[in-house]
Amino acid sequence: MRILLVEDEEHIRDIVRLNLEMDGYEVVEADNGPDAVRFTEEQHFDLLILDVMLPETDGFAVCEQVRLKNTEVPIIFLTAKDSPADRIKGLKRGADDYLTKPFNLEELQLRVANLIKRSKKTPVNELNEYSFGGNRVNFSTFEATAKQGDFQLTKKEAMLLKLLVERKGEVVSRQQILQAVWGYDVYPSTRTIDNFILAFRKYFEVDPKNPKFFLSVRGVGYRFLEE
Ligand code: CA
Repeated sequence: MRILLVEDEEHIRDIVRLNLEMDGYEVVEADNGPDAVRFTEEQHFDLLILDVMLPETDGFAVCEQVRLKNTEVPIIFLTAKDSPADRIKGLKRGADDYLTKPFNLEELQLRVANLIKRSKKTPVNELNEYSFGGNRVNFSTFEATAKQGDFQLTKKEAMLLKLLVERKGEVVSRQQILQAVWGYDVYPSTRTIDNFILAFRKYFEVDPKNPKFFLSVRGVGYRFLEE
């Protein structure tokens, strides 16, 4: 679970981050609005904690910009002002909850946990097996069957393949792939992803040089297609 924490006061940021990390969340920090908006466009977050009083762009404006592209991610406002008008302003701009400074850390942690729980829809049908063009892949055992017979995918191969299949027809950016498959601990070069795709083509395509399933989208990423 990843949280974006937007707060310009370093000591508040530190203490909130520490507490959230103790609860097992991965916390990414921003100390201004433009960075925050950019991060939400490039990365996936399960929740945003947004201070209202920020230099340049205030939290309300950040919330508005985020909501243009992402209506799903839960947003909690941190506000120094406890005026009903401010609270209403925040909620109108698409926030889900707010806390007034100085706030109780435990209360923040509880609200974070509740909002994340509420926003997670139970997966209706977790994708376990998938067949395409005479190939078959099991995402739990990593077993695959293709033209060369039965073989074993690596865990990372299975994760990447599942990601592409789940988003069939959509362009999946290298950034999204890195995040979903590698997380942010180890940064492989984008060349590594390219090599995975080359391997998929070798395993699963009739003609790896003229791929029908695993397409490159120049400068962006990859797309899995199946008619
Ligand atoms: Ca502030």
